Amino acid sequence: MLMLGAGLSLLGVAGCHGNFRGPLRGEEAAAGALDASLAEAPSPAPSPSSSPTPSASPTESPAPAPAPSSAAAATGTPAPSSPPASAPASASASAAAPSPRVVTAAESRPVYELDAARKVVAITVDDGPDPRYTPAVLALLDQYGIRASFFLIGENADAHPDLVREVAARGHHIANHSWSHPDLSGLSAAKVRDELGRTSELLGRLTGRAPTWFRAPGGGWSPTVLKVGAELGMRPMAWSVDPQDWATPGTDVITKRLEKELRPGAIVLTHDGGGDRSQTVAALKAFLPMLIDSGYRFTAPPG
Ligand SMILES: [Zn+2]
Repeated sequence: MLMLGAGLSLLGVAGCHGNFRGPLRGEEAAAGALDASLAEAPSPAPSPSSSPTPSASPTESPAPAPAPSSAAAATGTPAPSSPPASAPASASASAAAPSPRVVTAAESRPVYELDAARKVVAITVDDGPDPRYTPAVLALLDQYGIRASFFLIGENADAHPDLVREVAARGHHIANHSWSHPDLSGLSAAKVRDELGRTSELLGRLTGRAPTWFRAPGGGWSPTVLKVGAELGMRPMAWSVDPQDWATPGTDVITKRLEKELRPGAIVLTHDGGGDRSQTVAALKAFLPMLIDSGYRFTAPPG
């Protein structure tokens, strides 16, 4: 748990593009506490939300897969497969009229890390979709049998709807990264609601399932951002490993940072949009097989 604090102070304030600073230390401290609870209690079964939506009874234990011995077995991601098991009847209905998942107060704080007791890692990919890089990332993930989480920008999703569908169709987790990638912590509640709500509506329409997680650009969490996100049925996902690939420091630097900061339960931040992401793609090409060789399994956040 000590590493969570380090993650918060060193990594949580940088984030996409590095433009935004984490606004509230108190908020970040609170987030660390939640993080610990999530990591140590992977199956809390969020109580008040069991029936309204197909995503309401997620498998909170994100990596139940048996110990993998090959790339194919590394697909330990339950999130994409959980809806059929948990809510078969309402899955189609949600496409037409998604009802927000009920997010508890505890769940409305950013999650910085997953189950640190397991050798699992969540790969998250922000700022897409981008036709220049998203297909390459998808191909790599397919190659190694890995499912990841894509935090999509509404504007980009609107411009490339087929790519959104492709990401979802390949079983990856689709999440909300705002409509236009502003510093949400500097916006009014109404503006935040517009940024997040519009994006959720679009992603829900394109994929048939409204996002249940969101990420504030640059880690720009604020009480208002968290409140609005919860009202829209989404939990906030931060990160614990940030190679700062957005700054294009070079493929080797990105790769080394990823390898150095990696630890069980890590939520790894990468980008497939927002600029030239060829270095990120190249770094993933080296990093992903290394993860598998090291015995890591891959997970997505619980649905
Ligand atoms: Zn971003």
